[in-house]
Amino acid sequence: AASNSFAESGADLELVGIQKRFPGFTAIEHLDLTIPAGSFFALLGPSGCGKTTTLRLVAGLEEPSEGQIRIGGTDVTALKPHRRPVNTVFQSYALFPHMSILENVAFGLRRRRIGDPVGKAHEALRLVELDHVADRKPAQLSGGQQQRVALARAVVNRPALLLLDEPLGALDLKLRRQMQQELKEIQQEVGLTFLHVTHDQEEAMTMADTVAVMNKGRIEQMGAPEVLYELPKTVFVANFLGQSNLFVVRVTGESGEAIHTSLNGDRITVPLARTERTSGTITVGVRPEKIRLHSEAPEEAAGVNAIGPGRITDVSFSGVSTQYTVEAPEFGQVQVFAQNVEAGPAARLGDEVWLSWLV
Ligand code: ATP
Repeated sequence: AASNSFAESGADLELVGIQKRFPGFTAIEHLDLTIPAGSFFALLGPSGCGKTTTLRLVAGLEEPSEGQIRIGGTDVTALKPHRRPVNTVFQSYALFPHMSILENVAFGLRRRRIGDPVGKAHEALRLVELDHVADRKPAQLSGGQQQRVALARAVVNRPALLLLDEPLGALDLKLRRQMQQELKEIQQEVGLTFLHVTHDQEEAMTMADTVAVMNKGRIEQMGAPEVLYELPKTVFVANFLGQSNLFVVRVTGESGEAIHTSLNGDRITVPLARTERTSGTITVGVRPEKIRLHSEAPEEAAGVNAIGPGRITDVSFSGVSTQYTVEAPEFGQVQVFAQNVEAGPAARLGDEVWLSWLV
C-alpha cells in the first residue's frame, strides 16, 4: 500500500492562539493545537462546543478573530478556501445525480484543468473499492457506497489535509461501524492528515490516534484514546468518554504518587493522576467495568479495594454484559458493568452485595 501515489502527502496543521467571536458570542475561546502530518485526529465534544467552527476556520469558511492557521508550515490564515490544500467531507455528501460515479470524482480535476482526470478518478475509486461501479449513477448506490464516493472525490486531488464533519452521521449503526473501520484503513493507506469532527465518543475512540475533547470553546484534554479513557483529567472528560462513577471523598493523607482517602475508612489509596482536586476532598472516577460485585466482604488482596456494601436496585442485561445499579449507603447509586462470560452465579435484583474496585 505504501507504494500508491497518495502516500506521504499529508501536512501538519497548526492552530496558534485561535479565537473566534461572533456578534454577542465567543465560539472559540482559545485554541492552540498541532496535528502532525499523517495523523488521524478527532475533535470530540457536545453540540455547540465549537467543533464545526474550528473546521470552518481551517477550511477558510470563517476568519479567526485572533490567531494564525498554518498548514505544512505555511500561514494560510488570509487565504481563500480554494487556495488552501484542504478538502471537506460533510454528512450530506451531495453527489451530482445526473453524472456517473466516475464523473463525480473527476469533476473537480476537470474544472481545475488537472491532467489525467479519468485515470486519477479511477485510482481514487479503487482506493475506496468502488471502481467496479464507476459507470453507475449515484442513485444506484447504497448510502455507504455514496459516502465512499464522496471520500474518493475529496482525496482525488490529494489535499494535504482532509476535514471530516460528522461524515458518517447519516448512516445506520451497523454501516457506520463498518465505515469507521474502512475510513481508518483508507487514511492509513493515503497517509493524509485527517481532522475528524464528531460528538460520538465511540467513533472518535475507534478511529483516531489522537482525540481532543472540546467543551465550551476550549480543549479540555487531548491524547491517545486509551489515555483519555484511563486517565481523564476532568470530570467532564470522564463523563463524556463512557460512564464513570464519581466518588467525592475526603483526603486523609498523601504519599508519593498516591492519595489516601476516606473511602472505606482510610484504607483506599488512589493514584494521584486519577483525581480532580478540590480543597480537602477529591473526586475519584471509577469506571463501571472496574467494579466487582461480591456476595460478602471481599478478602484484602493486591489490586482489590473494598468499597462497601450495597443493594442491587436495577439489573439490565445487554447480551455480552449486564449493567447493575447498586444503592450504596455511603455513595448513592453506583453503576457496575459485568461481562457475562465471568464465572459465578449472576447477582439478582434486591440482592445485598459488596462492591470492590479493581485498581
Ligand atoms: P454541533 O455538533 O451541534 O454542530 P458544534 O460543536 O459544531 O456543534 P459550532 O457549530 O462550532 O458547534 O458552534 C459553536 C457555538 O457558536 C454555538 O453556540 C453556535 O450557536 C455559535 N455559532 C456558530 N456560528 C455562529 C454565527 N455565525 N453567529 C453566532 N453564533 C454562532
